Amino acid sequence: MSRVVFLNGEYKDYNNALTHVEDRGYQFADGVYEVFSVKNGKLIDYTGHINRLSRSLNEISIKYPINIRSILFHMRNIIRKNLIVDGLIYLQITRGVAKRDFKFPKNLDSTITIIGNNIPSDEYDKVFEKGINVVTTRDLRWKRVDIKSLNLLAPVLAKQYANESNAQEAWLIDDDGFITEGSSSNAWILIGKTVYTRPVSSSILNGITRKTLIKGLNKHGYNFKEKKFNINDIKKSKEAYITSATQYVMPVVKVNNKKIGDGKVGKFAKIFKEIYLESVQLKS
Ligand code: PMP
Repeated sequence: MSRVVFLNGEYKDYNNALTHVEDRGYQFADGVYEVFSVKNGKLIDYTGHINRLSRSLNEISIKYPINIRSILFHMRNIIRKNLIVDGLIYLQITRGVAKRDFKFPKNLDSTITIIGNNIPSDEYDKVFEKGINVVTTRDLRWKRVDIKSLNLLAPVLAKQYANESNAQEAWLIDDDGFITEGSSSNAWILIGKTVYTRPVSSSILNGITRKTLIKGLNKHGYNFKEKKFNINDIKKSKEAYITSATQYVMPVVKVNNKKIGDGKVGKFAKIFKEIYLESVQLKS
């Protein structure tokens, strides 16, 4: 069976799923998205992701094109039709189709797309074993990155810079020299026995993986602080990590080509990954 995607109420062959040239997502990045991880055919932290999607839509006054229960139904169908065991669901909603104009008509029919990807679980394990390299770069994004919008040009360029610098992620630096987050992940360091990540504000995306890991850290009695950190703090850290729906907890072994700790995956990386996986909610 060939790959199937969901587009505006229809299941379509991947190669024939086309949107209108004047879809506002295409012309203005006027839309939002979510990425759900799938593990053993089940959605990880569905409720957290769908609640964040509702918030993102609400913040930019886009309505759901179909009700939330139907979205879950179609996501399950995409998992089933594409035989996804481990992988991800990409869900995107744009404001819809209208003649190009910055201001938008109210009550447009929003466009919904659901795409599924199979990702063998050993791909994650292979990356985890080695850990990843991070480089830092200026945070050039707009001031409402708490909204998971399609406006991703700055993260695209940051990730490309990382890729060309033999790194897998870029950590973004604000005007005061603090790390906001990764181009597509939240950023963490371990100094002494305390784990640090930046507090939630409009300068970061409130990661669902972040939230679940915090729940697990608290449950297991680890010292955890929501506090901004900068390059000097990174130099003092014994371990570092990124978190995201697709990367879970991923160890960082180098930042700007300098080793974190001994430059190998630390023992807490493994513990925190296990704590995260134990803390997630699975929806079949
Ligand atoms: N920050 C940014 C900028 C992201 O793109 C992502 C990935 N969606 C995250 C953080 C992590 O969020 P989550 O854990 O919900 O995937």
